[in-house]
Amino acid sequence: MNPDFPFTRFAPSPTGYLHRGHVLSALYVYAAAEKFGYRIRLRIEDHDQSRARKAYIDAIRKDLEWLGFTWEAESIQSSHEERYERLLKVLHRKDLIYACNCSRKFTFETNPTNADGEIIYQGHCEKLGLPFTKDLAIRFKTPNVDIPWEDLLLGKFIENPKKLCGDFAIKDRIGQWTYQFAVVADDWEERVGLVVRGEDLKHSTSRQIALAQALGRKEPPLFLHHPLIADPAGKKLSKREHAASIRGEREQGMSAEALLGEVCAQANLIPEPRLLSVNDSIQLVKNRLF
Ligand code: GLU
Ligand code: ZN
Repeated sequence: MNPDFPFTRFAPSPTGYLHRGHVLSALYVYAAAEKFGYRIRLRIEDHDQSRARKAYIDAIRKDLEWLGFTWEAESIQSSHEERYERLLKVLHRKDLIYACNCSRKFTFETNPTNADGEIIYQGHCEKLGLPFTKDLAIRFKTPNVDIPWEDLLLGKFIENPKKLCGDFAIKDRIGQWTYQFAVVADDWEERVGLVVRGEDLKHSTSRQIALAQALGRKEPPLFLHHPLIADPAGKKLSKREHAASIRGEREQGMSAEALLGEVCAQANLIPEPRLLSVNDSIQLVKNRLF
């Protein structure tokens, strides 16, 4: 653990209630924090102001407390405007950004997509030299280099972010900071040395390392991507289904211990559900880490 970056974080987006997938993610964050000696921050990722809701923000804190989680630091992205503007200027000074007026439709029509269905933006607007006005998106000149990293669970990766996603957006056309930019800015400024999150986000890592380097971060954080739990039909849990939310299950009378037991069983940490405290659950996950 690098003492300059002593934090790990749990970083849910308040666009719905927490579901069992978030609980497993939190267990991994806490288990990794214990195992590798990190402190814990809760970061509310409300960069997407069109989808974030105050009710979900309050629910995130309450549901985590109900489950028995505690945390040492907390932040919320909507209060980081000054931080993002300041770091955007760093990229601007280094000539690493450009304005983009491609509509959503045009972007999809004129660019290939990767295996995850994301756009690989081919740089259409780079040569246009458009002014940085409020109604235009801002894109990062993604470096065309292989980025290696070693995931603490999944092993070695090498990815070229230019090939994976091209010049990705920092800010969108309605002035919202993107997930990729906000998370990199925050992980650096909030002294996050270990990123723990679900496997569905592993292909964000190379672009986040590239962006962190461009901003001036000397050493990227360590990364740990954990397996996801699927619902009985085998599809990824969606936070939009209220019935499957922690809030919904609690309202239907489930205890925190019962819920934690079910999550651990679904994640194959125990063969059958049983009552588990948050600490017991964290220890079960910790035994999975090496
Ligand atoms: N806010 C993201 C989510 O809820 C997680 C981001 C991250 O851990 O990097 O899925
Ligand atoms: Zn464009």
